[in-house]
Amino acid sequence: MARKILVTSALPYANGSIHLGHLVEYIQTDIWVRFQKMRGNEVHYVCADDTHGTPIMLRAQNEGITPEQLINRVWHEHKADFDGFHVAFDHYGSTNSEETKQYAQDIYRKLRAADLIETKAVEQFYDPVKEMFLPDRFIKGECPKCHAKDQYGDNCEACGATYAPIELINPYSAVSGAQPERRSSEHYFFKLSDPRCQEFLSAWTQGTLASQATPPLQQEAANKMKEWFEAGLSNWDISRDAPYFGFEIPDAPGKFFYVWLDAPVGYMGSFKKLCDDRSEDRGSRIESPLDFDEYWNADAKTELYHFIGKDILYFHSLFWPAMLKFANLRTPTQIFAHGFLTVNNEKMSKSRGTFITAESYLKQGLNPEYLRYYYAAKLNGTMEDIDLNLEDFVARVNSDLVGKYINIASRTAGFINKRFDGQLANLMANNASARIQQEYGYFETSAKETAALVADAFDKRDFAKALRGIMTFADSANQFVDQRKPWTIAKELGKEDELQQVCTLALNMFRWLTVMLKPVLPKLAENVEFFLNIPPLAWKDASASIPANHRINEYKHLITRIDPKLIEAMVEANKQTLAPAADSHSQTRHAEAQQHAISPIAETISIDDFNKVDLRVAMIVSAEHVEGAEKLLKLTLDIGEENPRTVFAGIKSAYDPATLIGRMTVMVANLAPRKMKFGLSEGMVLAASGSQPGLFILSPDEGAQAGMRVK
Ligand SMILES: [Zn+2]
Repeated sequence: MARKILVTSALPYANGSIHLGHLVEYIQTDIWVRFQKMRGNEVHYVCADDTHGTPIMLRAQNEGITPEQLINRVWHEHKADFDGFHVAFDHYGSTNSEETKQYAQDIYRKLRAADLIETKAVEQFYDPVKEMFLPDRFIKGECPKCHAKDQYGDNCEACGATYAPIELINPYSAVSGAQPERRSSEHYFFKLSDPRCQEFLSAWTQGTLASQATPPLQQEAANKMKEWFEAGLSNWDISRDAPYFGFEIPDAPGKFFYVWLDAPVGYMGSFKKLCDDRSEDRGSRIESPLDFDEYWNADAKTELYHFIGKDILYFHSLFWPAMLKFANLRTPTQIFAHGFLTVNNEKMSKSRGTFITAESYLKQGLNPEYLRYYYAAKLNGTMEDIDLNLEDFVARVNSDLVGKYINIASRTAGFINKRFDGQLANLMANNASARIQQEYGYFETSAKETAALVADAFDKRDFAKALRGIMTFADSANQFVDQRKPWTIAKELGKEDELQQVCTLALNMFRWLTVMLKPVLPKLAENVEFFLNIPPLAWKDASASIPANHRINEYKHLITRIDPKLIEAMVEANKQTLAPAADSHSQTRHAEAQQHAISPIAETISIDDFNKVDLRVAMIVSAEHVEGAEKLLKLTLDIGEENPRTVFAGIKSAYDPATLIGRMTVMVANLAPRKMKFGLSEGMVLAASGSQPGLFILSPDEGAQAGMRVK
């Protein structure tokens, strides 16, 4: 039976741009949601901008606009970034909504009725010029420990000490510069220290309640909770004084909910909007109505999952379940925390250019699915940090996606298109050889087993394991193509059936791989569906075959290798956003100039000079590592001669040998043989390179045959 699942990602704050660190979570959630939907489950994925609090209020003042204008502008920026990376929310809302306000106030009233709210006078710094209480981050002064100047009110960036703002020496307001006064004000508290909360949370976080089928937290998170319990829970200050951008607390004029009270309530508000949208007349769109209560009532049988970063575990595993429980609502099924992103093994840094915004990535023309793939290859469902190594990113995407996955279609589809008018063979027909039927049976079983393993890994959020399984299958599909050599069969007379059958089986394997990669690469999968001329793939297609005699569309390039120059330009562009003199226009120009920097053109030669060089199309028959050679690969090249040539090529840094086998390239055929340490090299393959890292061997257009002369 289909599961009913509500999924959320943490709400991004409406005070800044989405960067690659944020995207880890949205990409992780989106992959999981897409997988569950492909399985046939009913899944709803909601999120919203987190819009309240002092930083938003002050930034709007600085820009001379209202907070509403600011959050509206940022909402559109965030939405465009998420769309750009194919993060497909069913609803993306805002916490500054009527729905969120109603639920926040309702939860508060229920907590108050349960005697879980108390008030207490709190002494805080007050800015007499701005006439407002100052949050810790808006007070600066001298560190009480090391006496570094201009440190924030909560911790010192010079020595790392943490302290209360009132301990700062010579404090001043970061908003107005005025000397703050200490003033007392009445604050509202959620009584987490109440024995009912303690008892509930200590059981809930460890998953020992009768209503819990699964532990709600990862083991490492559950352990962290135990530590916090041992330290004792204190009451949570949920109010802030006016002026504040947020929701007013019922029956408490001038008091507002602290932004962290209404932020998670935004999950409910956003979901309510989705329910309301569904109940409206949607014209021809047929969608079943959604019942809000079915997902939020205390006895809800549906599932609720929150994907979050490990830094907000405290709010999601203590405050939030307690709020829900004592407001007589359901609690989350599970909370999935992930680690932080590092770039090249260091914290993201604006000066190094590794604090990369989502927008700047897309602006370079980099394919968003490459980042989705790379993150998926790194995410294993734990709270460990993940590293975006920019060099490894280029190598991995080029090797796995271009060299392994797409390679299967690019080496076989052309034959089907040109020789058989796009028509696939019937592998079960009488004219199908026993060998191909046996091979089909073998790979079909293997695909079934792989799909089961991959599904289990996706479900457990171990995407790294899922992709390892998928790439192992891609390797065996490539080995099949290498062994069967359709490019050789194509040259032999009377082997039409065999050629069609081999390519048909390869394309079936390509389709199975596409099913399994679809949660990660939704746009590419859509393009493959068009190429294969088939309806949208669901998980059940992961080992089903394409109907016999089906006709496919013409194969066109599906993806290209990442050009490392684009990565360099992106890092450069993110560095320059800090340089005060550089406006965005000159940044773009600079990046373009960099991309086009080329080495000087060589001396002019005559056509006769050029004709001395005999260039031939060569088929790479085999490619292997050379023991003891740092840069070389040993290639065996077929140029239509009786014996193939051996060439040592300095391309090891850029290519995995397995991905080269079966590819066409171009070689210099009349270069004097050269004796090398590892053997005789009988020619040279052509490769492009520039001042930036990266090597690119040449490929002729489809249809070129081994031995053809290049002129
Ligand atoms: Zn200090």
